[in-house]
Amino acid sequence: MNTSGHNPPEPEPDRPIDPDQGGQSNSGPENTPRYGQGHEPEQPRYGEPSHEEPRYGQPQYGQPRYGQQSGQGIGQPCKNHPYITTTIRCQRCGEPVCQACSTQAPVGVQCPQCMAPARAMYRQQRRRAFLKGTPVVLTLLVVNILFYLGQRAYPQLTADMWYAGAYGFEKPWRLITHGFVHSPTGFTHILLNMLSLYWIGRPMESAIGSAKFSLLYFASLIGAGLAVLLITDPMTPVVGASGAIYGIFGGLIWVSRRAQIPLVPLAVILAINLVISFTLPGISWEGHLGGLVVGLVLTPLLLPKSPNSRTSTR
Ligand SMILES: [Zn+2]
Ligand SMILES: [Zn+2]
Repeated sequence: MNTSGHNPPEPEPDRPIDPDQGGQSNSGPENTPRYGQGHEPEQPRYGEPSHEEPRYGQPQYGQPRYGQQSGQGIGQPCKNHPYITTTIRCQRCGEPVCQACSTQAPVGVQCPQCMAPARAMYRQQRRRAFLKGTPVVLTLLVVNILFYLGQRAYPQLTADMWYAGAYGFEKPWRLITHGFVHSPTGFTHILLNMLSLYWIGRPMESAIGSAKFSLLYFASLIGAGLAVLLITDPMTPVVGASGAIYGIFGGLIWVSRRAQIPLVPLAVILAINLVISFTLPGISWEGHLGGLVVGLVLTPLLLPKSPNSRTSTR
């Protein structure tokens, strides 16, 4: 009783489906459906796309969009970026790789994984070339460190190698040997000098060659010693490779100028270093200046004459 009589969703039995009047209430008179058509909602009206075809701009799943090549199939996810589909394949392992992952190698497109061995080999070759390229700088680094260890083991070594104005030309080898010992009390002196030698010595040796680099290095050391002889208090001994490093600095200015590398950064670093030399106590600014002058004077003579040099008028 209760379940059958008062339920609203029950279909109304007193409104029969009349084929003559059905559809008249919700459609205009101009598109009144013909007999039998009004109750078939599956059929599209005029102008509406049928359900079988996708609407314009709506791609169907599994089919290529407009502009995609349908013949070669859809792209596959990149092996490294699964959210990127790609049609590129690595020529070596055959796996799909996206544009960002593919490298154009001589043998074709390669994925990063297949490129790794070639890259490692290239890196090793470069390392070998580097070791071959600057043997003097590397030797100087080793020799300086060995002498420093010697100083720590035998404190007398420092006094045996340093130079002071009081020696004059009495022990001329000290003009060179003072450049191979450093302040034995700490690490800072040798560390800064060896870093500078590594950073500016390598490009300089590659630029002018090992023989000319050696000449520049030792000439700058002697220049530093002579400046100490001329200017410094004769009783104050000096040690360190700084004079030679300033000589390289001076030479690098010429090399950079020849290579048309901007000189301002180099000049600023040099100026800062010179200011430090002049202001901090215990640093031989005289030796720095002497080495720099030698580097500035000597390097133009070592450099090959540039073909388009406008300064040579003779
Ligand atoms: Zn591969
Ligand atoms: Zn990728």
